[in-house]
Amino acid sequence: MAEPRTIARALTIAGSDSGGGAGIQADLKTFTVLGAYGMSALTAITAQNTLGVHGIYNLPLEAIEQQIDAVATDLGIDAVKTGMLSQVPIIETVARKIKQHNIPNLVVDPVMVAKGGAKLLENDSQQAMIEWLLPLATVVTPNLPEAEVLTNREVKTIQDMKEAARRIHNFGAKYVVVKGGHLEGGDALDILFDGQTFEQFVSPRHETKHTHGTGCTFSAAITAELAKGTPIREAVAIAKEFITCAIRDTLGLGTGHGPTNHWA
Ligand code: PLP
Repeated sequence: MAEPRTIARALTIAGSDSGGGAGIQADLKTFTVLGAYGMSALTAITAQNTLGVHGIYNLPLEAIEQQIDAVATDLGIDAVKTGMLSQVPIIETVARKIKQHNIPNLVVDPVMVAKGGAKLLENDSQQAMIEWLLPLATVVTPNLPEAEVLTNREVKTIQDMKEAARRIHNFGAKYVVVKGGHLEGGDALDILFDGQTFEQFVSPRHETKHTHGTGCTFSAAITAELAKGTPIREAVAIAKEFITCAIRDTLGLGTGHGPTNHWA
């Protein structure tokens, strides 16, 4: 007889960051610290450090499919997050697999461009993300530049963030978190929209260049909490606290944009 399961299971479908600050490495550290069992399906390998992305190697679609199938058919999945998906065929494959395996709790981090400017999603792939992935999403977590690409309009103010959340919600995601880290000055403000009401999450802004992987870490924290059965508002609040501490207590690694501190 099978032993009773004692831990929530979270899968990240994302790219590898050799520097360990973003991508699947950030996701697995976050899952672990928040008490979820982490699993990974790699979409791409990046050669990367705190100075930038030096190489991108997308994996064959078959390899991505097999990883998701292997995990879903044996270990099981309570929540999944998607990160770097690189290209339209990868987006389509991942969306198809998530549907096929009926995975609950999908967190979509619509990763597009790394802070150093490297493209992690090819041009014109946003339409595939809107069409294939967002209708399956429990939560989608765009930052301001990503919200601008998804809605094809400027997002510079809190009012713009609310309007973007409304538009992105219309693509089919159940909840939208628009992250205001790129707003000029002031506190770091994020907005959660459930289709009817807006809720604001505010934390003090910490001025530091070590913010590599913040988006990955934030969405991974939401994923870990959803896997554990935490309700969405509480999951976002915990993720906000987690990323705020991770930015505040910097590790000071590397000579460029260093990683955040997942143990803060
Ligand atoms: N590299 C990989 C593999 C990622 O998945 C991400 C996620 O957004 C990044 C880099 C971006 O990192 P940054 O926070 O520096 O924009």
